[in-house]
Amino acid sequence: MPTPDFVRQTLNDLQARDLYRRLVAVGSAAGPRIDVGGRTVLQFASNNYLGLAADPRVREAAVRAIERWGWGAGASRLLAGHTDAHAALEADLAAFKGTEAALVFPSGYMANLGAMTALVGRGDLVACDRENHASIYDAIRLSEAELARYPHGDVGAAAEFFNPQSAVRNPQLLLVTDTVFSMGGDLAPLGELAEVCRTSGAMLVIDEAHALGVLGPTGAGLAETLACGSRLNAPSANPQSAIRNPQWPLAVTASVGTLSKALGGVGGFVAASRDVIELLVNRARPFIYTTALPAAACEAARAALAILRAEPERRQGLLALADRLRRMLRERDFNCGRSATPIIPVIVGEPARALAMAAALLDRGIFCPAIRPPTVPPGTSRLRISLTAEHTEGDLDQLVQALVAAR
Ligand code: PMP
Repeated sequence: MPTPDFVRQTLNDLQARDLYRRLVAVGSAAGPRIDVGGRTVLQFASNNYLGLAADPRVREAAVRAIERWGWGAGASRLLAGHTDAHAALEADLAAFKGTEAALVFPSGYMANLGAMTALVGRGDLVACDRENHASIYDAIRLSEAELARYPHGDVGAAAEFFNPQSAVRNPQLLLVTDTVFSMGGDLAPLGELAEVCRTSGAMLVIDEAHALGVLGPTGAGLAETLACGSRLNAPSANPQSAIRNPQWPLAVTASVGTLSKALGGVGGFVAASRDVIELLVNRARPFIYTTALPAAACEAARAALAILRAEPERRQGLLALADRLRRMLRERDFNCGRSATPIIPVIVGEPARALAMAAALLDRGIFCPAIRPPTVPPGTSRLRISLTAEHTEGDLDQLVQALVAAR
């Protein structure tokens, strides 16, 4: 097939700027040690936070489901693709999140697209943290709502977008934020943002992709942590607020999550009131016009969710490892930004430096990816360390020694 000229030019340009990306094929199951290019490496590159991606109970649930339903769903959810497994998973997710209902999508990416396109459209205004995940930006673009991007974590700047004029001009106002930022591992000022939404009558959509299974008294996410603090227990005056469960004093309209990180599988979901979920079923094009997730993926997620709930020691051990690693790195003057989760960046500046450090680590048998613009702002290229409950203190020691040597 012919290749248009601009393709090679673009690739050459990316290479010249150290922004070229390459795939790395893994030849083994998910875990702290994986086979890459014929050798086994210690990896800090996955979001398999609780180590459930290869758990025997999760595998077995998937196999049992394949035996019952086969592999492919064969159709979209509104045609013949909706199974008992989808319905059961949605009930489990709603119970876990403390919402009336939940809706599963083929990925977390699509869950964000679905939530945003159903809730806002042309003429509406969406305030969006500068460091929100790419899928949120794509979701806003697809919705055709106006993007109002505020500096990372800047509650005052977010509030300014919701002034009285914007409320008159825009029929719907919405604020969207990751609760845990995927490249910095830091937390959104969720309580303050919820207050901005409450006073301005804006909807609040949160993406708990990296918080589920990691934060909150039962692992339900950052909103659950805040709900346990007394400061936020005032009933919401926001008429848009759909989640009124006592577990949810925050005025959250929709909580997006993924089955692909702590739950170790594939798929995404939105948890919300029954009406918001009904709206998504009727309006969310990324839900309507795509083939359903296989039933086996749903059954695997249900098994993983049951383990997540029954074994809080996984989450507690993971958070203790993250504390330990941050302490070790900061003692050695590495810049870990404002990480407060098992995502721990080592910010080094320019893309070439991040690539050189990642290569030096790989020479020592450690796979830890370099993250560069446009995924992170220019000048903040980094190694992104993500820990799982399966890592050991010995693994952390090995990583820190390698980082010191690489520096
Ligand atoms: N939201 C955030 C914050 C993410 O980091 C990701 C995945 N990187 C997603 C959504 C998309 O989730 P999924 O991988 O399930 O599509």
